[in-house]
Amino acid sequence: MKKLDLASKILIAMVLGVVVGIILNLSINNWGILTTEMYKPLEVYIFSPIGSIFIRAIRMLVVPMVFVSLINGVAQIGDLKKLGRVGGKTLAFYLVTTALAITIGLTLASIIQPGQHITRPSDIIYEAKEAKPFVDIIVDMIPTNPLESMVTGNMLQVIVFSILLGMAITGISKEKSGKLLDLLDATNDAILKIVDFVMQIAPFGVFALLVKVAATEGFQTLQSLLIYMFTVILALVLQVVIVYGGGLMLFSKMNPILFFKKFKTVMSIAFSTSSSNAVLPVTMETVEKNFGVHKSILSFTLPLGATINMDGTAIMQGVATIFIAQVFGVPLPFTALLTVVLTATLASIGTAGVPGVGLITLSMVLASVGLPVEGIAIILGVDRLLDMLRTAVNVTGDAIVTIIVAKSENEVDESILYSSSIHTSSLSIKA
Ligand code: ASP
Repeated sequence: MKKLDLASKILIAMVLGVVVGIILNLSINNWGILTTEMYKPLEVYIFSPIGSIFIRAIRMLVVPMVFVSLINGVAQIGDLKKLGRVGGKTLAFYLVTTALAITIGLTLASIIQPGQHITRPSDIIYEAKEAKPFVDIIVDMIPTNPLESMVTGNMLQVIVFSILLGMAITGISKEKSGKLLDLLDATNDAILKIVDFVMQIAPFGVFALLVKVAATEGFQTLQSLLIYMFTVILALVLQVVIVYGGGLMLFSKMNPILFFKKFKTVMSIAFSTSSSNAVLPVTMETVEKNFGVHKSILSFTLPLGATINMDGTAIMQGVATIFIAQVFGVPLPFTALLTVVLTATLASIGTAGVPGVGLITLSMVLASVGLPVEGIAIILGVDRLLDMLRTAVNVTGDAIVTIIVAKSENEVDESILYSSSIHTSSLSIKA
């Protein structure tokens, strides 16, 4: 029998996970075959631990990988002018793709009007968690103690410190910096090896994570909010097809279908974990091995993207704002929509790449146009599934911008970029 490659195993595990989860859900809630007491031990002793082991194993690599590869990458870029140029281009692409994402979300929501089909619940209670003001996000980027930033996993601070260290290394003598960079490079390769090990258990992790979600999500809310979900999903698809597909063809002459074939494993891990941060080591390995992007670019653009570039989140926030405005009967004039574009861009920058945070920063967007934050309670029930989908879009946006920037800097190996070979953890197969 032909041995299945890792990407196919992960896809099969996803489908099986959803099917088994839905069967369990129906058995408990509709068919009366299982009781919650009978299901709980399965979750506590099997699905939760297996899922957690997988997520923890990749998250374990995030801080060391970003630290080591970013210092190395910045030091390899060498001259500060080039670093500034790459940084400027990356930020510009991240901002533009996010603004386009919100615009797509707002336009679709204005056409479909998802909030017209739902009556406002009278008993909603939502305790808004305070979203950080934007100036605080900027000030907080500077660490007071870089070790603490690493321990607490504050990615923006780790990024700032690593960039500074990388820049400083280029300023010291070649004799000294050479040895240090060799060490960092070897450490980076060793970390990539651990990514390969961890990916071997990915199918089990993905299966367990999805069974748990499908078994415990309520389907009632899902039905009543179907049009809202449909609007978000359609906007996500348009973002992927038009903005990403178009961007790839326009700026890097790459066939989008080939891109997705080579990137689907990352998207499925992002979907299963709902965390751009957790999937970062896999994104970095894939963009290097499958698209031939030079480490000096991706080690800078991808961690930054996983932290600040959230196009999928911005789409959800755009659609949710219009939806909540319609449910509460608050008209949003054109100037309010412009405010939404601006605040949702900032809110998505301030959204950490972990599950569910996009919903918390949504309060910032709602408040900016005077909408009640309690509105978030209405969409809370269906956010789990949307979080999974938007995270897959979030990481795709990071990879697309990385490829475009790398191509413009001639920092990509074209024989890998345009080839249909796929690297899946220590084995190479044809797409
Ligand atoms: N879960 C998303 C991510 O990690 C963030 C969010 O929208 O909640 O990319």
